[in-house]
Amino acid sequence: MFVETHAHLNLNQFDVDRDEVVQCAQENGIEKIINIGIDIPTSNESIRLAETYESVYAAVGMHPNDAVKAPLDYLKQVTTMLKHPKVVAIGEIGLDYYWDYTPADIQKRVLREQLELAIMADLPVIIHTRNAWPDILEILESDFANKLRGVFHCFSGDAEHAQRVLDLGYHISFTGVLTFKNSRAIDIAATIPAERLMLETDCPFMAPVPHRGKRCEPAYIPIIAETLAHARKINIEELAAQTTANARNLFHI
Ligand SMILES: [Zn+2]
Repeated sequence: MFVETHAHLNLNQFDVDRDEVVQCAQENGIEKIINIGIDIPTSNESIRLAETYESVYAAVGMHPNDAVKAPLDYLKQVTTMLKHPKVVAIGEIGLDYYWDYTPADIQKRVLREQLELAIMADLPVIIHTRNAWPDILEILESDFANKLRGVFHCFSGDAEHAQRVLDLGYHISFTGVLTFKNSRAIDIAATIPAERLMLETDCPFMAPVPHRGKRCEPAYIPIIAETLAHARKINIEELAAQTTANARNLFHI
């Protein structure tokens, strides 16, 4: 059994067959799915999906690229959402300097506000970071050290970044990128301590080979697991058991 720790099933890529996608995930051994919000509307949609499907849980928050559009009372709205029994994390939140939709100072403010909220609510955070390693690590290693738990999703850093993330106590999760030819992530993923490792698809994006370039879905988690198990020289059952236990413990699901 697997946990899919990062899906965006609310997106319109799933409008035609969402029921089947959730069903198909279950048939492929994915027992639980965490659906991730990136702003207020998609966070509410995540909650609605969690209410619709027993296997789905919700994460809510403001993605760094969308931070500039955050309503003035966004924090109040997110705080209200946290009362829902199927909201299990704050995310995805972080810093993204690859796209320049939102100035860095606004990204940092919105990140810090949500990290504070996670401490108050005692919830894990789901961190998205792209081209922003020095800043994200500085924030997490200074004011927020030893106060938070969470996961760095779709990990794209190098070995030193991985070590600093692990030293901070965070989990690290990997997507179908692991199956891409010349992926640097697979070498990192092979070395992460078993008790910190998790799996995700980030669907509808990042479909693993042989579906690369097409719509991704949670049912592809076993493909990612197979690749990772091979790199770690363990069997897939062992990897499934470990990553599922990690996700259950982190998100209390
Ligand atoms: Zn995502």
